[in-house]
Amino acid sequence: MTEGEFDAAVGVVGAGITGLALAHHLDDAGVDHVVLEASDEPGGVIRSGRVDGYLLEWGPQRLRRTDPVDELVVDLELDDEVLEAGETEMFVYADGSLGRAPFSLDAFAETDLLSEEAKLTVVGEPATEPARPDETAAELFTRKFGEEAYRNLLGPLFGGIYGSDPAEMPVRHALSGLMAVEERYGCLLKPAVKRAMQGGASAPAISFEEGVKRLPEALYDAHRTNVRLETPVEGVRREGAGYALDTADGTVAVERVVVTTPADVTGDLLADLAPDAATALAELNYNPLAMVHLLADGDREGFGYQVRHDEGLDTLGVSWNASMFDRDGGRASEANDGASRAERSGGVYTAFLGGMRNPELVEADDDTLGTVASEEFEQVMGVPAEVLSVERLERGFPAYDRSWDALVDVETPDGLFLATNYTARMGVPSRIREARELAERLS
Ligand SMILES: Cc1cc2nc3c(=O)[nH]c(=O)nc-3n(C[C@H](O)[C@H](O)[C@H](O)COP(=O)(O)OP(=O)(O)OC[C@H]3O[C@@H](n4cnc5c(N)ncnc54)[C@H](O)[C@@H]3O)c2cc1C
Repeated sequence: MTEGEFDAAVGVVGAGITGLALAHHLDDAGVDHVVLEASDEPGGVIRSGRVDGYLLEWGPQRLRRTDPVDELVVDLELDDEVLEAGETEMFVYADGSLGRAPFSLDAFAETDLLSEEAKLTVVGEPATEPARPDETAAELFTRKFGEEAYRNLLGPLFGGIYGSDPAEMPVRHALSGLMAVEERYGCLLKPAVKRAMQGGASAPAISFEEGVKRLPEALYDAHRTNVRLETPVEGVRREGAGYALDTADGTVAVERVVVTTPADVTGDLLADLAPDAATALAELNYNPLAMVHLLADGDREGFGYQVRHDEGLDTLGVSWNASMFDRDGGRASEANDGASRAERSGGVYTAFLGGMRNPELVEADDDTLGTVASEEFEQVMGVPAEVLSVERLERGFPAYDRSWDALVDVETPDGLFLATNYTARMGVPSRIREARELAERLS
């Protein structure tokens, strides 16, 4: 325990991946800390579990093994449990069939998703004007790569990541990273071609034998003496030279605080301490999502597909968990022993529905959502599907729409830091990188 007036030098609110990775790096740096978590489980939105023996993911389906992720895998000795994605193809459902998204030069030449004329327009991108922070992602993609490339490829792939509508997403919120890349290379095509020639994404997509949840679980196991589960923070106050974190079990006095909770919760926690920031955080839109896990005998290989929005489907996209990771179709089954991926007796698929374009659908009952997801899956994949689970997230993905302009009003008092998907990108690698950088600042 820290000497003097504090229980710990740093108090972390939330034991999602950001809070837990922060605990890990604070520990490395020798900084005394305590993590307070409302739930009885660590991991936040990362949730994996088995239903009828099949492994389901209710949060991230995979993560990229970037350097900060790799560092944790090595530190936690998880290498033996890592599963690396096999086929990494991504598809778009457009004009009634699945087209392969081109992430290599050969695939670009062959793809059915773009006409020859559209391909020529894409190649002309370096001659276009640079990205403008005030235009929308839809305007930028259309202006730089052409209407067809936006409609058939970039719109579905980019919008699909967030369950969002690129026509509602200003570049300054949704594509700030892309603007930095353009500034560096003078255009967007050059770095895309460079990446394609190196074989696609720079870091492989991974999961673990027992799902993505294994990572926060291992972090929790390694740092459990500093993590208090079932301890929701009810208020954050200034006290002396530091802060008081109020919980039902008493007050925890800390010198500095890091809040990693969802924006609406953070807004409530900061209402007295930083009222302007609290009001701004309460304004941020998140897209509601429904997730339907399906069991089906599909024989396609890859990450999955996104649906072009004018195809008349309610499904936003489907993750092909069955083919992504070599996990016996998601089930520990003797019948599957020794069988190749394609031969197995069915595997798990995750369908995403709702999002910015169709938020009401998320309120439909389980039967309706299950029926929509399985019927549309059969339409696209040509095989029937059985529903394994239906789940909803009222506040799923960050919308990165104009409501995110409110972030300019988010200022926090000295010694109080925010770290989660409204302070940097939402992906797990980005969460871990931000935690690592913050631990350095705090040590
Ligand atoms: C459906 C879905 C799919 C995704 N897919 C991918 C993917 O494929 N790949 C990828 O890289 N990323 C993906 N992401 C993004 C990524 O999973 C999240 O951005 C990331 O896990 C968020 O972690 P976090 O710790 O910042 O926040 P959270 O996970 O939200 O953690 C916040 C924690 O704070 C706790 N808390 C709340 N209130 C209190 C309180 N009052 N006191 C104490 N604790 C409190 C919560 O219980 C929670 O544990 C996905 C996200 C979702 C929702």
